[in-house]
Amino acid sequence: MKVLVVNCGSSSVKYTLFEMEAEKRIAWGIVECIGLPEAYYNRQSAGAEEKKDSVKVTNHMAAVELIIKDLMDGETGNIKSIDEIAIVGHRIVHGGDKFSKSVLVSEEVKDGLKKCFTIAPLHTPGHYEGILAVEKMLPGIPSVLVFDTAFHQTIPDYAYMYALPYDYYEKDHIRKYGFHGTSHNYVSQRAAAMLGKPTNELKIITAHLGNGSSLAAIEYGKVIDTSMGFTPLQGVMMGSRCGDIDSAIIPYLINANKELADPEALNVLLNKKSGLVGISGLSADMRTIVKAVAAGNKKAKLAFEMLCYSVKKYISTYFGILNGADALVFTAGIGENSPSVREHICRNLSALGIEMDIDKNNEPSGAERFVSTENSKVKIMIIPTNEELMIARESKRVLTNE
Ligand code: ADP
Repeated sequence: MKVLVVNCGSSSVKYTLFEMEAEKRIAWGIVECIGLPEAYYNRQSAGAEEKKDSVKVTNHMAAVELIIKDLMDGETGNIKSIDEIAIVGHRIVHGGDKFSKSVLVSEEVKDGLKKCFTIAPLHTPGHYEGILAVEKMLPGIPSVLVFDTAFHQTIPDYAYMYALPYDYYEKDHIRKYGFHGTSHNYVSQRAAAMLGKPTNELKIITAHLGNGSSLAAIEYGKVIDTSMGFTPLQGVMMGSRCGDIDSAIIPYLINANKELADPEALNVLLNKKSGLVGISGLSADMRTIVKAVAAGNKKAKLAFEMLCYSVKKYISTYFGILNGADALVFTAGIGENSPSVREHICRNLSALGIEMDIDKNNEPSGAERFVSTENSKVKIMIIPTNEELMIARESKRVLTNE
């Protein structure tokens, strides 16, 4: 069975075609800068060289058309007919309060997704465009929506509610939803496999640290809290997002800076100009920050330390609410690739039974691995995330009613 996973951002379409028997990638790629004068199409098939082209793609429909034609190319393609694709899995960032689990696309589901436009204006319109494009290009092939928010649906009300007047929850659906759920789900399952126990016997703290970062406290397979909130802005400090701040700063800033009276300007400040780039003045990219720290840049050092400290605080909190943990898992761009960030975060956590083996942590490797000492009560693990595979599995499950 072949499953096509698509991830439609506001100006990009990413895809992976899987063969589900062996859970192997057959082809994958991305169309970027959709709508700009020059768009880019990078793609690869298993065992073949990566191909890169500059293309003219004005909308998601054209991007999906390009991808499907390429997948079916007589000489270099991967499928002969669209009927070889059993189902398409769409990654959807925000399911709001409408969707608590994966669903097959129908007219009703599309209407429900439209209602999420206001709650996640940056992502949902792109997802919606992508669904329409897939329907047009792959007529008759079912699609399933897999939500980043779904894995967090088990968070209890006392953890997902904000202490605002209750009306805002009822009227405006203001509550914690959480994000990166597919990634937290995948790495917690892999962690359980590596520990040789089922997830329902384990307490796991997962740290997805990328451009956007979030942590989850997972008790016996169920998320009981996560650091992102109503939007991905809440939680730890990120590449360009501020994470947790005193909310009273917002009205104060609006009063003090006329240009911030515009909600869009405020959103840009908090989501795009803060975090690593806001503090360092250099970059939102951790690789640049790490290099600048090594070169003695003081603001880069402050940004680095602030980010690590904010992650450490969440780990400590989650250790408390879980009443102990079996494993701490690092994943995503920074979590998988930055030994110095991991070391900084885990420093002086021995009171919680978290003890890192620095040599193992420094070993360059892209594999799933343990980086804790033999005596560490909490196993520290690095697990490359694989959201696409998780979406493909979920799509297959929905299709076959497993
Ligand atoms: P996204 O949230 O966009 O999916 P990723 O998970 O790809 O993000 O993570 C991107 C982040 O990972 C960037 O800050 C990047 O600098 C960081 N990163 C990638 N490789 C390394 C590395 N070797 N050392 C430090 N940071 C890294």
